[in-house]
Order: sequence, then C-alpha cells, then structure tokens
Amino acid sequence: MGWLLLLAVLVVSRSSAVQEAVRRLAVSLRGKMVQLELWAIGGGFYLRADAASAFASMRAQALSEGVALQVNSAWRTREQQKALYDDYVSGRRSAVAAPPGYSNHEGGTAVDVETAWGTNAAYLWLSANAHRFGFSRTVPDEPWHWEYTA
Ligand SMILES: [Zn+2]
Repeated sequence: MGWLLLLAVLVVSRSSAVQEAVRRLAVSLRGKMVQLELWAIGGGFYLRADAASAFASMRAQALSEGVALQVNSAWRTREQQKALYDDYVSGRRSAVAAPPGYSNHEGGTAVDVETAWGTNAAYLWLSANAHRFGFSRTVPDEPWHWEYTA
C-alpha cells in the first residue's frame, strides 16, 4: 500500500512538471546572473515571458494568414547548449553553436523555427512580418534563428 501511494505521488508530481507553464530560474549569461521567467509556448518549448507573449501573438497572426510556425528549439538549459557546442566543435554538427553561457537560447529570447533553409512559407512570412512582433534574424547563416530584440 505504501509503495502504491509513493508511485501515485511520483506520477502526479511528474505530470504536473510536464504541464508546468511557468518556470523561474537564474542563469549565467555572458558572465552575468540573470533572473528568468520562462513561459511555455507549446511542444515542450519555453521562452522568456515577454518573448513568449510576443511569439504567441506572432504565431497566431501567421496562422490566421495560413502559415504555421513550427518551433524546433527555444530556451535551452546550459547542459543542452553545451551538448550542441561540443557537437559543433567536434564536427558532429555543422550548424554553429555558441559556447555555453553565451547563447541567447539560454536567455530565452531566441527561437528556431522550421524554415527549410529559408525556402518555405514560414520563412517568407517571418521575413516580412517578424519585426512587427519584435523578432529579427540575427545570425546570417541561420534562416531558422529568430531573436526577440524589442
Ligand atoms: Zn537558434
């Protein structure tokens, strides 16, 4: 009976963690500690609160015009950024990744949208409209990478 109760508690706490809409944490970004409030944007992805709000408005507007914005990456933990950076440095990944502690993904302001290397409707729509929502392309070689800079 005790074990069943423990199992039930574990299952409940795990599911509430998955559905958690807001996360608060402190991260070190470019050598400075930053307090972050992250909001879920669906699909298990998070952005900083203001960027998340702007992204939700942008995605809704795009969808109303028939364009779906599919997110491939948003906020990253230090460990996730380190793994990407290690893969880049070792040649396992061709796309450039910033060193851990230096990516705006860790600050929750960068989002990677599926743009088919800058050829699909999402990319064309973002190029024409993202600035209206405070987002801009900041990495010339990465048409998928958009940052909230407002
Ligand atoms: Zn990115």
